[in-house]
Amino acid sequence: MFKMKKKVFPIISLLLILTVVLSGFHPTDAFAQGFKKTDNTYNGKTPKYVFLFIGDGMSFPQITSAEMYLGAQKKTASPEIKALDFTNFPVNGVASTYDMDSFIPDSASTGTSLATGIKTGNGIINMDAAKKVKVDPITRKLKEMGYKIGVVSSVSLDHATPAVFYANQESRNNYYDISLQLANSNFDYFGGGGFADPAGVKAKLTGAPNVIDVAKKNGFKVANTKEDILALNNKSGRVIAINSRLDGSAAMPYDMDTKEGELRLSDFVRKGIEVLDNSKGYFMMVESGKIDWACHANDATASIKDTIEFNNAIMEAYKVYEKYPNDTLIVVTGDHETGGMTIGFAGTAYSTFFNKLEKQTMSYDEFNTIVSDYRKSTKVEDQKLADLLPQIEKAFGLITSSNSNAKTNADFVLTDDEQSTVEAAFKRSMEDPKSRKLNGSEKILYGTYEPLTVTLNHILNNKAGISFTTYSHSGLPVPVYAVGVGQELFNGSYDNTDINGKLKAITKITK
Ligand SMILES: [Zn+2]
Repeated sequence: MFKMKKKVFPIISLLLILTVVLSGFHPTDAFAQGFKKTDNTYNGKTPKYVFLFIGDGMSFPQITSAEMYLGAQKKTASPEIKALDFTNFPVNGVASTYDMDSFIPDSASTGTSLATGIKTGNGIINMDAAKKVKVDPITRKLKEMGYKIGVVSSVSLDHATPAVFYANQESRNNYYDISLQLANSNFDYFGGGGFADPAGVKAKLTGAPNVIDVAKKNGFKVANTKEDILALNNKSGRVIAINSRLDGSAAMPYDMDTKEGELRLSDFVRKGIEVLDNSKGYFMMVESGKIDWACHANDATASIKDTIEFNNAIMEAYKVYEKYPNDTLIVVTGDHETGGMTIGFAGTAYSTFFNKLEKQTMSYDEFNTIVSDYRKSTKVEDQKLADLLPQIEKAFGLITSSNSNAKTNADFVLTDDEQSTVEAAFKRSMEDPKSRKLNGSEKILYGTYEPLTVTLNHILNNKAGISFTTYSHSGLPVPVYAVGVGQELFNGSYDNTDINGKLKAITKITK
């Protein structure tokens, strides 16, 4: 690698090179590969219980904003954060996320990298970028080795991130075909959301078997009430556990919209640990899918609340680690960042006011229902913003200067500028979404979201000192946190494909 004669080197240079060589850093190798690369050699023990937690759309801003939000609740004079437990795991790394199409990747390509170790193109599930070669996810190999396999997601079980752990498809949008692969898989536990297209209606298929029936025929027990799900255990056999309340996309509700007594992501992880429990061990992938959806919609509060619940879900696995520290590995990462979220806004300069977000009582998704119900139930000539002000106050805490609480709640009074922005968004929201034609600057203001809702989210975010740059993903790297057997491999800076390489090395998968 270095072809100079040793004797011309001063002793310090020699020591420096020795340090570099011994640390396993090979600059020419790394740069020739085109991405960061770490040494994934592992000769240690293989863990029996392996957890991979993926916060969809979760990078530093999503984690840090949740920690600042929790810290702000202490109401101390100086800034204080309350760390999410998983950020205290002993080993931290950083992974690049770009795919073969863009620095700004999607969940299918990044998921494929995490599940298989290859780079691929946007939208592809476990195939090469040319969509010719199918590549096995790590889960199939682990199953052959005797591990039981669990796949958990707060969004539909056939969504891109869960799909990369059991399917191969040219497109992430092939929901029916993906779910059919789930039903035909030999895996052991699927939990969380439902199926986006279980009967093949969206795929325009006629006479296609319902995937639930296929799954049952293949020996899966399907539980979709709280009682049936809570009754599951390691004698239940192979299980699909679907939350009793799902949204229009077959996803679980946002954590902030979850009612007392309803199941949350952490419940599906705890149940999975019970169902998968066996002497040979298991691998469980858990996705918090709606951190991503919240950030697409620029809803900081919904992102923060789902990230906090993600931490609770991780802590269920941590109990397994505490019980079996010499047999457990937990890895936590994101697949990419969503929203270009950041802490800092031009209007609030160096200040943040995270406790203002406490005023938000429902996600953008739930408020959208209020807006569309009003649009449908009120004659066009009768529609006025004043009618929705009480609901706006209830959902976001935002009020106008004529509100009787305006004096005591001055921080939440809309400025004249903000009020005219809200009025303009309200007008657009009252138009039928199907025929609504936004001009160029409105597309930047609202994206593809309900104009009134996204405007209210922006105003509250900005009052708190948070802002978003996009309704899509961004090119930020993602953090990696690890605890348990083999944790040391996750230290440093590497590519997302390396996370797969490290998991394979630790579980002794040779190809
Ligand atoms: Zn994603």
